[in-house]
Amino acid sequence: MPEETIFSKIIRREIPSEIVYQDDLVTAFRDINPQAPTHILIVPNKLIPTVNDVTPEDEPMLGRLFTVAGRIARQEGIAEGGYRLLVNCNRDAGQEVYHLHMHILGGRRLGPMLARQS
Ligand code: AMP
Repeated sequence: MPEETIFSKIIRREIPSEIVYQDDLVTAFRDINPQAPTHILIVPNKLIPTVNDVTPEDEPMLGRLFTVAGRIARQEGIAEGGYRLLVNCNRDAGQEVYHLHMHILGGRRLGPMLARQS
């Protein structure tokens, strides 16, 4: 079994977090260190560490991530202006929390997709 992260405690509401949506498959909550006016994470309720651990049986949950992302974007008023959905996988992408999550970022011009190398 993979090791639980803080996100499992948020999903079970054992630690405080600003949950904006929850259903049988996914939970969405505000990022504690927002990088944009709207910065929300959507996570599967089931612990899946990275995209590399996704299997075909996870496909209903993966589809839900997108329908919930669109719903939250509308709720947050960023759907028309636009937003970015981002999933980091492992070290080179800078993944910090090993519980699969989709970032929803919006509310300002987000700039180029990748930071320039210095
Ligand atoms: P990543 O680099 O894709 O793994 O992103 C992890 C994200 O989780 C970062 O944006 C963190 O700010 C966020 N984060 C870490 N701990 C918490 C927490 N307790 N509540 C909300 N967001 C968190």
